Amino acid sequence: MLHADVNWSCLRDVRSLVRFRCGIVTVSHRNHKCSQARVQGCVFCNSSVSDFYLHSVLCCSKWDALRSLVFSKVGVPALLNRTTLYRLLNIMPSDLGFMDVVTLCSALDGAADLFWREK
Ligand SMILES: [Zn+2]
Repeated sequence: MLHADVNWSCLRDVRSLVRFRCGIVTVSHRNHKCSQARVQGCVFCNSSVSDFYLHSVLCCSKWDALRSLVFSKVGVPALLNRTTLYRLLNIMPSDLGFMDVVTLCSALDGAADLFWREK
């Protein structure tokens, strides 16, 4: 991406996708603190969840609009499971819907960052 003539905003958004692929975006909390608890609250909707990434990317109601854009391009998955999450986060730039996945991850990354700054 750095060799392509892409603006800074786009690179930052793609960085968010990479951060989700690496699992370094903290999307869950326990009493507004980082935790290793098996069940934690979603930083976006505060639902109690055990699979934080699966919930935030594929299920969290706060992101329904952005997620529907993604699914309109990549197809609605039959199951919302870890395999679907893996496939979505490992979408290639040449695949249809890549920028929609990037936009979703960027929005989640920014909102998670905001949650942790406001705690
Ligand atoms: Zn949620």
